[in-house]
Amino acid sequence: MNPEPLTDLSRLCIHTITTKPWNIEEVAEKYSAAGVKGVTVWRNTLEGRNIPETGRLLRNSGLDAVSLCRGGFFPSTDRKKRQEAIDENRRAIDEAFRLGTGLIVLVCGADPAQPLEVSREQIYEGISAVLPDAGAAGVKLAIEPLHPMFADTRSAINTIGQANEMAEKISSPWVGVAVDVYHLWWDPDLEKGIERCGRNNNLLAFHISDWKSPTVDLLNDRGLMGEGCIPLRKIRSWVEKAGFNGFIEVEIFSDIYWKQDQDEFLKKVTEAYLKYA
Ligand code: ZN
Repeated sequence: MNPEPLTDLSRLCIHTITTKPWNIEEVAEKYSAAGVKGVTVWRNTLEGRNIPETGRLLRNSGLDAVSLCRGGFFPSTDRKKRQEAIDENRRAIDEAFRLGTGLIVLVCGADPAQPLEVSREQIYEGISAVLPDAGAAGVKLAIEPLHPMFADTRSAINTIGQANEMAEKISSPWVGVAVDVYHLWWDPDLEKGIERCGRNNNLLAFHISDWKSPTVDLLNDRGLMGEGCIPLRKIRSWVEKAGFNGFIEVEIFSDIYWKQDQDEFLKKVTEAYLKYA
């Protein structure tokens, strides 16, 4: 049975990429004024900023810094590049710590020049290498499985089952899974996978948007909740049954919406959240 609609915005988090034209100061002001309670910060918005000060700005605006997006991209046929990725992830962990968030989302990466199994082995090695840093900073790492259309370069982890396996293999309190409906809605094993994720205390984040039909761009044509074919409320019921009651994060990459008036768009986001999430 589907859960009740959300009656307020107390669990609403928005990814800064959703309103890409806004800088982090505009995000703090506009999200706060709209009654949004959480923000997932994409690293590009921190460039040139004093990070602890930015964290304070968000908190003083009533916004919880839910996570930092993103780390990962571990695999490469080139050993030097794998080491650079590990170093970059250490910098991301440091940024998360200074911003005051306890979570980084990992887009784990893939290299089309090698088999997916090899990329997954390198993801395991990469995450393992940065685990001590994550633990020392008190920052958790959420493995986000990506839709298989991104298996060539963005992620060799494409299902909730593979993400669960990776998290269980690493078996650390600092590593878990991010469930993003855009990537996972089609999977017949999703309900079971979410249940297993919760049972192992690995369910760290929940991202929403919608799958438009037709989709004109595989990366940047995500829909607002209610615009597509994802059974959002049903998936939310699985996530909540698995024990997750954290933020519901709106993450929409859209060339169409980025061109529109962002104040109007933000209004649409909060309306669609209450109506369809
Ligand atoms: Zn996501």
